[in-house]
Amino acid sequence: MNRTIVASECGHFYATIWIDFMSFKAVRLGGKRLQRCPVCRKRAWVSPADTSRLTAEELRQAQQTLDSPIP
Ligand SMILES: [Zn+2]
Repeated sequence: MNRTIVASECGHFYATIWIDFMSFKAVRLGGKRLQRCPVCRKRAWVSPADTSRLTAEELRQAQQTLDSPIP
């Protein structure tokens, strides 16, 4: 399943499964979701990241940081 790189308000980037209109573990509000960051384990708002603004290294790390496979 495709994963979307998201930017969390805690400052981390990670890859998550982003399915509009179908999410069981996150509170949705507009284009943002509240979910647990897999890096720092805090709950924070996330939104799809503008990957063109990330460096290649940031993008690589984000793609290797996956949250749980349950959307
Ligand atoms: Zn974080």
